[in-house]
Amino acid sequence: MTDVHNVIIIGSGPAGYTAALYTARASLKPLVFEGAVTAGGALMNTTEVENFPGFQDGVMGPELMDNMRAQAERFGAELVPDDVVSVDLSGEIKTVTDTAGTVHRAKAVIVTTGSQHRKLGLPNEDTLSGRGVSWCATCDGFFFKDQDIAVIGGGDTAMEEATFLSRFAKSVTIVHRRDSLRASKAMQERAFADPKIKFIWDSEVAEIHGDPKLTGLTLRNLKTGDTELLSVTGLFIAIGHDPRTELFKGQLDLDGEGYLKVAAPSTRTNITGVFAAGDVVDHTYRQAITAAGTGCSAALDAERYLAALA
Ligand code: FAD
Repeated sequence: MTDVHNVIIIGSGPAGYTAALYTARASLKPLVFEGAVTAGGALMNTTEVENFPGFQDGVMGPELMDNMRAQAERFGAELVPDDVVSVDLSGEIKTVTDTAGTVHRAKAVIVTTGSQHRKLGLPNEDTLSGRGVSWCATCDGFFFKDQDIAVIGGGDTAMEEATFLSRFAKSVTIVHRRDSLRASKAMQERAFADPKIKFIWDSEVAEIHGDPKLTGLTLRNLKTGDTELLSVTGLFIAIGHDPRTELFKGQLDLDGEGYLKVAAPSTRTNITGVFAAGDVVDHTYRQAITAAGTGCSAALDAERYLAALA
């Protein structure tokens, strides 16, 4: 058994590193599990980030995350490049177990495990990420001024992304597997009324083309089997997100979509001493700055909780 830490942070995106920075500066010596292969979180997979305040000329995603990491480490955060494989959050002292089976103990836990966007599962999807392929119109829409864009999906998110993108784009083509949308009536009507948006029904993406940048898609009609080429320089995949909450099922309360529930505006979960922040909680905003903001809130909530224990 190891010593009892003040706080263990699980996850290393903007939420985790911000929580680490704040708890480290409060002399709480946080232990941070960064993840074995994905330390730094979602922004490690992108190129330029233009909407994180403080970087007038933009910043590369990995550079931003390296800076956040170094800043947390400077103030004494202990960073562990490993996954947490199980947790027991029930007692006053919480335990988390790493991949080697070592059990780590803490008085408080901050969960910042993020969420994973669903992928199409096609070759080229990852290599063209940041080079035409995106999962976030708010983040990347601006890069696609006057271009032809495809949006994949038929739910609210897809309609929202498409109507947002039509402000910049020359054209937006929504490609959907069925012949009707899952999106709410209001969102559908907005999309149908937008002259820049057109629909391709009953179709899926069979291939993504381009090297080094996206140039087009091969679409397959699921009813007829026919294929067609769609020339686009932007592809927004809006088929959903999966919050990384598997570890916490049966312990922390989840909402209907699997996100962790907190007593907003605080970051308190249903278990005393356990806090959650970032995209693992948030299915509305999903931005680096909002994740960092709630990571800060979680650190302050944990700090106050620990002070009250003393
Ligand atoms: P994440 O960044 O997802 O980090 C979660 C971390 O937790 C990961 O490192 C993961 O490995 C770790 N983890 C998970 N489970 C475990 C475990 N069991 N043990 C240990 N570690 C674990 N936002 C913007 O504001 N601007 C942009 O330009 C922008 N561009 C984007 C481009 C792309 C391609 C993507 C995918 C997202 C983009 N976003 C952008 C969104 C932004 O990246 C996210 O909103 C933000 O990263 C969420 O931060 P987070 O800390 O909640 O989670």
